Amino acid sequence: MGGTGIAVIRGDGIGPEIMQATLRVLDSLHCGLDYCFVDAGMAALEHQGELLPQATLEAISRCGVALKGPLTTPIGGGFSSLNVELRRRFDLYANVRPAISFPNTRARYSGIDILTVRENTEGAYLNEGQTVSPDGETAQSIIRITRRGSERIVRYAFELARRRGRRKVTVVHKANIMKTTSGLFLSVAREVAREFPEIECNELIVDNTCMQLVMRPEQFDVIVTTNLFGDILSDLCAGLVGGLGLAPGANIGSGAAIFEAVHGSAPDIAGKGIANPCALLLAAADMLDHIDRVEQGKRVREAIRATLAAADRRMTPDLGGSGGTESFADALIERLQTRAAA
Ligand code: ATP
Repeated sequence: MGGTGIAVIRGDGIGPEIMQATLRVLDSLHCGLDYCFVDAGMAALEHQGELLPQATLEAISRCGVALKGPLTTPIGGGFSSLNVELRRRFDLYANVRPAISFPNTRARYSGIDILTVRENTEGAYLNEGQTVSPDGETAQSIIRITRRGSERIVRYAFELARRRGRRKVTVVHKANIMKTTSGLFLSVAREVAREFPEIECNELIVDNTCMQLVMRPEQFDVIVTTNLFGDILSDLCAGLVGGLGLAPGANIGSGAAIFEAVHGSAPDIAGKGIANPCALLLAAADMLDHIDRVEQGKRVREAIRATLAAADRRMTPDLGGSGGTESFADALIERLQTRAAA
């Protein structure tokens, strides 16, 4: 004991398999983590009779950091999405999605390293205010942007850029048309940007951003934007680097941060031992950055990069290997240990 406490939720489907591989890799780094294993999703429903037990919420609050496998939310279980519920409970206002191009993948460009920082709590994704007229002819919903919401997400993006030594933050908006909502976001972003003179800041309209990302992605470093635009842009960025197979995500609030793979529980391959653990491992690497183990986080990413570059046969089938989840972890651990010994 005495290390940094991490709440670990193994998750559903392939979750336990990729979590086991991820923890083995983390353990090989000896970075002083104390795991607190708790359940959520179907695993929690089976063992404890509820999808999101109090003990799980308490462990996340206590540790302040969680590593989470994919969760299945059953229909009729009282939640439309457990992931959304966790974001709401802990006010996880920043959704951070890195897109990094790795060798020997379906990445469309090499050298991409983009961080999308998406506001996670307001904008076009409010539950309230969604109505359809009685005749079914007209539907409407509310888009709400607040100064507080805009300020904290933009400040988070700039602080992240500063901590990670990033050079540039692009503020993405549609203030030319959505003059009130996107307009407020943009004007607050301009104010916050002035506090970070060493970081270049530019503004880009969302439609142009999509085109620029596809045509010249190398111009992007950190992107900060509102909820709906961020949702779309982060998947666009994932597509640029070959899809969701290697896509980690983090949901960050002031009291808690949850790190996860973006993909789902993959029930079609669960239990077969062939799930690719990389997205969760990359999420774990971002978690290590978050808890000031930046060197170890970097080593995990480098080990993945080198293993992919070598086209190691022990990789999982989705990456062209003939191995499985555990043999992939073995290959990564071997690389980490060789480098540590060198
Ligand atoms: P859910 O309902 O939990 O979102 P899903 O099957 O709809 O599950 P994903 O779990 O993201 O969505 O899976 C989409 C496809 O990608 C599936 O064919 C799945 O096998 C594959 N897949 C997802 N994650 C991985 C992984 N880590 N390794 C290999 N294949 C994966």
